[in-house]
Amino acid sequence: MLVQLRPPAPRGADAPAGEFSAERAYAQARTVAAGTHAAGSPAADQVRAHLVGVLRGLGLETEVQETIGTEAGQLSGAAGGATLARVRNVVARLPGTGSTGRIFLVAHYDSVQVGPGGNDDAAGVSAILEVARALTAGPRPRNDIVFVLTDAEEACLCGASAFASGHPLAAGGGVVLNLEARGNGGPVIMFETSRRNAGLVRVFGRAAPHPIGTSFAVEIYRLLPNDTDFTAFLDHGFVGLNSAYIDGAAVYHSPLDTPATLSRSSLQQHGDNALGLAREFGRVDLGTVRAGGDATYFPVPGGLARYPGTLTWPLALIAVAAVGALGWLARRRGRTSWPRLLAGLGLGAVPLVGAPVAAQLLWLGVTTLRPGYRELLDPYRPLAYRLAVLALAAAVLFAWYALLRRRVGPAALAIGGLGWLALLGLVLAALTPGGAYLASLPALAGAAGGLVALAVRPSGPSAAVAVTAGAAVGVVVLLPTVVLLFPALGLGLGGVAALFAVLLGFAALPVLDLLHPEAGGQRGMAALRARRAAAVPVLAAALAAAVLTGVGLRVDRFDAAHPVPTHLMYALDAGTNQARWLSLQTDPQEWTARYVDQPVSVRDEFPVLGDAKPLAGPAQPAALPAPALTVLADTGAGDRRTLRLRLQPQRPVRLVALHVAAATATVLRATVAGRDVPVQRVDDGGPWSFGLVFHAPPPEGIEVEFELATRGGPVSLRAMDASDGLAGLPGFQPRPPGVGILGSHSSEMVAVARTYSF
Ligand SMILES: [Zn+2]
Repeated sequence: MLVQLRPPAPRGADAPAGEFSAERAYAQARTVAAGTHAAGSPAADQVRAHLVGVLRGLGLETEVQETIGTEAGQLSGAAGGATLARVRNVVARLPGTGSTGRIFLVAHYDSVQVGPGGNDDAAGVSAILEVARALTAGPRPRNDIVFVLTDAEEACLCGASAFASGHPLAAGGGVVLNLEARGNGGPVIMFETSRRNAGLVRVFGRAAPHPIGTSFAVEIYRLLPNDTDFTAFLDHGFVGLNSAYIDGAAVYHSPLDTPATLSRSSLQQHGDNALGLAREFGRVDLGTVRAGGDATYFPVPGGLARYPGTLTWPLALIAVAAVGALGWLARRRGRTSWPRLLAGLGLGAVPLVGAPVAAQLLWLGVTTLRPGYRELLDPYRPLAYRLAVLALAAAVLFAWYALLRRRVGPAALAIGGLGWLALLGLVLAALTPGGAYLASLPALAGAAGGLVALAVRPSGPSAAVAVTAGAAVGVVVLLPTVVLLFPALGLGLGGVAALFAVLLGFAALPVLDLLHPEAGGQRGMAALRARRAAAVPVLAAALAAAVLTGVGLRVDRFDAAHPVPTHLMYALDAGTNQARWLSLQTDPQEWTARYVDQPVSVRDEFPVLGDAKPLAGPAQPAALPAPALTVLADTGAGDRRTLRLRLQPQRPVRLVALHVAAATATVLRATVAGRDVPVQRVDDGGPWSFGLVFHAPPPEGIEVEFELATRGGPVSLRAMDASDGLAGLPGFQPRPPGVGILGSHSSEMVAVARTYSF
């Protein structure tokens, strides 16, 4: 069962032309991620030229879509603000023979500002190049296939947003297959779909050679603060599937996200699935994949199980009824009583709460010993810790069982556990329907097994077979989720995996009892021996949890190859010539503490940083110019003014920003680089009435036009820009080995700002 969660073996460069080869794709990933190539940088220009060359070399109609993109999803630039970017998407088309719609293979070619993005998203880009090669080597598909390598994903999803909203090929929508990486290995998980996904999931189960995906993941993903290009496509009415590998998340967005860390097996799985899906979606009538409602789906040995979402409630209710019937029959057969059943159900809450709490306390202890873990999504080598969490959950469950088995009885405890699964099935059906199968199916199968066991001779071999078969269903359903929750949520939320491990334990309880030393009805030495025997698994699991935690601490030390992440940036007010070091770490490492100590609010001076309260320390001012802000036109009368301005960076920067002081004016209308941007009225008492952030600005800067309601006096504006890299700043000492850079969009940022009054 766990074997299917392992990515396939990578295929070599000699694989047949119609197949996906991780080795061939990897060669592309090395070129794409040869260095850091954030949107707008000269390195990104080189990567783009390479991509265009490869796609044209395949004979595909290829162009660069150069335009201004606005941020997809929520506005995050500043209070009441707008985020935009100058973007250059690489778009290539393989025309179909009789197209019924379009398939879009999407990955972003930009990297973060501090690392080369060897996985995120050179893996997706290189997989798409290799898929394009394999597709052009074979017969042409029926439907158009469009390859979209987007720009400025890391900045604001602006490339995807610009393509989806404005490119001629995007008119009419289509099926998007987005390829991502949030780590450097592990199985590729299809973790997000558009709504009403039944038709898409049917194709996924049929055509992806390694279909790992669960309808529960969509719900989990919504809890996480991540967004991908897929969001931008969904916003514009596209349908599709979003896939990523997510294990090894310690490297995410950091300088360590290099091609060398990329798992070729994960790349093979990414490519195999993308190629299989492109061929199948390229073959079918795309009108049919939009049919149907939402599906429930999850991985099982040999493929993907799926059924219509309309069965969620019936299954949840049948599971409750089946567990109820099991309790009724067990009482009638004299195996238990109503009070015991009630006790079994009530006491089931103990491990359900106890194991997650224990797991969270364990991680609290580990992060107290090793505070650097708090800055990472997951440790560099998390395996021992994950096993420790599972051992701890087992210890809690075993202890609960050993203590209560005699008093409450094995039947009541087992039925109580199934009762919890059935009740959780109802809760999940109401809150997260895609996850209800995780509780309803184990409850139903376990109850069915129990009913069969009571109907045949209860202590005979056929009863044991029935109980085991029922429990096996629960294990098959729950085990992949327990395993995948660790990389999905990180050990900081290890309690969630522990919770599902307890549910898995509940499903397996009846079998556990078959193995349990007989304790009922014995007296004296025999009872004592039985009690001692019952204590053995408890102690073994608790010991394993302790040993594994120790192993984790020993194996996963910070060193030069696995550095402790630190966040530092530099902020200069070019008007007052005051400079500061800033760090967003709440609990700074020794290295960071040399630069910063006092928490400060910076939203008055560096509004792009928002309401975060970084730690600050004094710095020497560097000779860096603030962006120039010049008035191109100034019209109006009374308290109404229309200001046309040019905001121009005076050095190579990644972004420029402009904020209007609320005390001097309210922005009624804003046009940025020729685009009207939405203006939201904010009356949060903050210093800014409007702000804009513009990524990858052209050297000549951008034109901004504001229609303002002034307070009678001059209008005050704060202009800021940001470049990347602290090397060369006065007073900066390079990090020693073992001290690394935190994967954050403001890591290593050099911000320069000044206030203008007109
Ligand atoms: Zn990405």
